[in-house]
Amino acid sequence: MGKKRCTAIVLAAGRGSRMESDVAKQFMPLRGRPLIWYALHAVEESSVIDDCILVTSAEDISYVKEEIVDKHGFSKVAAVVAGGKERYDSVYNGLQAACGGGQDSGNSYVPNRDGYIFIQDGARPFLTEEILKRCYEAVERDHACVAGMPVKDTIKIVDENGFAVQTPDRNFTWQVQTPQVFDAPLILSAYERLMQEKGRLSREGISITDDAMVVETFTDCKVRLVEGGYGNIKVTTPDDMAVAETWLDKSGGF
Ligand code: C5P
Repeated sequence: MGKKRCTAIVLAAGRGSRMESDVAKQFMPLRGRPLIWYALHAVEESSVIDDCILVTSAEDISYVKEEIVDKHGFSKVAAVVAGGKERYDSVYNGLQAACGGGQDSGNSYVPNRDGYIFIQDGARPFLTEEILKRCYEAVERDHACVAGMPVKDTIKIVDENGFAVQTPDRNFTWQVQTPQVFDAPLILSAYERLMQEKGRLSREGISITDDAMVVETFTDCKVRLVEGGYGNIKVTTPDDMAVAETWLDKSGGF
C-alpha cells in the first residue's frame, strides 16, 4: 500500500494567558527562535507530513505569514487561517481548510479528503520524526491515535471541594499529548457533530479538551494511544519555558 497523504494542522491561536506575557506564547523566543518555529520545523523536515495548515489569531495572520512562514521558508505551510475562541474552534477552522467541503483557502490548495490529519499544538516544540512515524503506523491500522505517555504519578479524581473520590489504576492512566491523528473524513465528521452540539455540552458542563475526546464522543471509532515522549512537553507557563531551554541545551539544540 502506498503512503497516504498527511496534512498537519498546527495550532497557534491561543492567547497563552498563563504565560503572563504581552507577547502571545507561540511567538515568545526560545533560544532565539519563536516557540512556534520548532513544531513547524519538525513538520517541514518530516518524511511523513506532506503539507500543513497553520491556525493563528485573525490579527496575527499577516505577521505569521511574513515573519514566521516566509522568513523561515516553511514551504509545507499551504495556508494560514484564523482560529477561534476555544481550541476546538481553532481545530474546526483548520479542518475546514485542510479537508473541508470545497472551501477556498485563498490559493490552489487541494483539500486532503481521504488521507490523514495530524493535529499538533504549536506550543509543543519537541515533536520528533519518530513520534510522527509511530503515529502514522498506528493511524494506518486503527484510524485514530494520539501520542501520550504512561503517567508516573498517581492520578486522583477529586470532588468540587478538593477531596479525593477515586484513584484510577495507574497501569491504565496516560497523559495525552499531540500529535492527535485521524482519518480525514472521521475527524471532519466528528467535529461537524461537535459544532452542532457544543451548546448542549457546555450547558452540561462538559469541556472538550482534546481531539480524541471528540472522536470518542461522536463516533464508534476507538482511539489508540501511541508512545510520544516525556520530552514532548507543552509550554504553558514561564516555568515550562525554562524547562524547554534546558531540554534544548541538553539535546544539543538545533
Ligand atoms: O491552551 P492550550 O495550552 O491547551 O493550547 C494548546 C494549543 O492550542 C496551543 O498551541 C494554542 O495556541 C492552541 N489554541 C488555539 N486556539 C485556541 C486555544 C488554544 O489554537 N482558542
